[in-house]
Amino acid sequence: FNENWIDAEPRSGKVGGAFCMGVRRGESRILANYSPSFSWVSTLAHELGHAYHNLAEEDRTMIQAGATPMTLAETASTFCETILRKAALKTVGAEEQLVILEGSLQDAAGTIIDITSRFLFEQSVFERRRDRELSADEFNSLMFEAQKATYGDAIEESTLHPYMWAVKGHYYSMDYAFYNYPYMFGMLFGLGLYAQYEQDPDAFRESYDDLLSSTGMADAADLAGRFGIDIRSKEFWVGSLDVVCEDIATFEELVAKSK
Ligand SMILES: [Zn+2]
Repeated sequence: FNENWIDAEPRSGKVGGAFCMGVRRGESRILANYSPSFSWVSTLAHELGHAYHNLAEEDRTMIQAGATPMTLAETASTFCETILRKAALKTVGAEEQLVILEGSLQDAAGTIIDITSRFLFEQSVFERRRDRELSADEFNSLMFEAQKATYGDAIEESTLHPYMWAVKGHYYSMDYAFYNYPYMFGMLFGLGLYAQYEQDPDAFRESYDDLLSSTGMADAADLAGRFGIDIRSKEFWVGSLDVVCEDIATFEELVAKSK
């Protein structure tokens, strides 16, 4: 903020959306198209999380920092968004809480549930493709089964989208196998870290910067293990989902009260 490193406002001729780019050791620039809404404050928190991650890697070489896998690249950004959301929920009135939660729960459902269905779909396609080519009907039924497996009875079967494989461009590129999976992993990993932070904020603060600075040097399981977190345990992921469940419970309470 002090150095004007954030190009915040929308202008004609400027590209849309938002991103953060590391420019030199520890330094980042952020592009945004800010408008006064919670969603844009949240996007800014997300991009500042990436900037903080870059800062944490200040003393790493380009090879050490640049090797951060996609699965860990969203760790700090998700963490920042979660801090902002939880803090905002404590300070605003019921009506605004509802708006904030509706948005974040929709995002979480998309990232956790829908991306899981795409993961299952790709897994079953690769398994079958080993032996032979697949027909469009088979793709449809694999997608349908994957969506049924992840959405359960949460949405009506008639509204499932068996042609999802036809509309997502990345399914057609060899370089983008399991393209969506890191977003789901990253979100749950960031939420899991938030759960750890809530349990013991002081201990977490001591190791957080160190964890971010090492994301290019070990895989997620190794890295988390160094900080006493076992991501191969079910408890860690249940802890991540509990952060979302807490929001669902608050959302349901607020809806019941507003009737
Ligand atoms: Zn991001």
